[in-house]
Amino acid sequence: MADYKIAHMYPDLMNLYGDQGNLTCLKRRLQWYGHRCVISDIPLNGQLDYQDIDMLFMGGGSDREQGLVYRDLFRQAERLQQEIENGLPVLFICGAYQLLGKSYIGADGETMDGLGFFDFYTRGAKDRLIGNIVINSAITGEEISIVGFENHGGRTYFQDTELRPLGRVVKGFGNNGEDGCEGISYKNLIGTYLHGPLLPKNPSVADFFIQAMAKRKGMVIDTILDDAIENYAHRQVKKQILGG
Ligand code: GLN
Repeated sequence: MADYKIAHMYPDLMNLYGDQGNLTCLKRRLQWYGHRCVISDIPLNGQLDYQDIDMLFMGGGSDREQGLVYRDLFRQAERLQQEIENGLPVLFICGAYQLLGKSYIGADGETMDGLGFFDFYTRGAKDRLIGNIVINSAITGEEISIVGFENHGGRTYFQDTELRPLGRVVKGFGNNGEDGCEGISYKNLIGTYLHGPLLPKNPSVADFFIQAMAKRKGMVIDTILDDAIENYAHRQVKKQILGG
């Protein structure tokens, strides 16, 4: 049995449309695998000990909340980028994902500098991209479908053609409703617009993070969980979105 710790950034500010459910999913799956998991809430201006965590999570937020947190994120940008480069598992949802780019121009035209980790920018608009979404992804090494819910005014545009999306949109909007891409995938980091929460209905994505956490601890998790319920929920949502 091992102890895993997942840091939850700004839980009282960045947590929309059930995003916190991603942490519940990861904690329960780690317990089902026979391990312990602690979720460590990191408030605004809180101290984060990267040596002490196995994964970092931040949920979505409105433009206002994004403005409140990005200065605090800036304070630790260099260390966070180093950790991402070293393979720290990171899941950033929607508003959090947008902050990983070079800039976020809110719907009111106010420009926030992003962390600049990736060469993309996000431009907000009053008409929001809202609805259920299905994408195809190779994040686990094989082609899988990922289902979720999106609600964002921001449109994210990759400037670096080498950037890898999390997946390709089958139904829904994705990064900008134009280029067919959704999210970003880089080493053990996923940025995505998929709320829902994302992980309970996409168990293989949850296990992508669990395997990455275990590997960084020099551990092997090779138990096969019974995901009959999770996979049924995934199929039902996918059927509902794609129309039978
Ligand atoms: N405020 C951002 C937007 O509207 C992100 C919203 C969210 O996190 N759901 O695009």
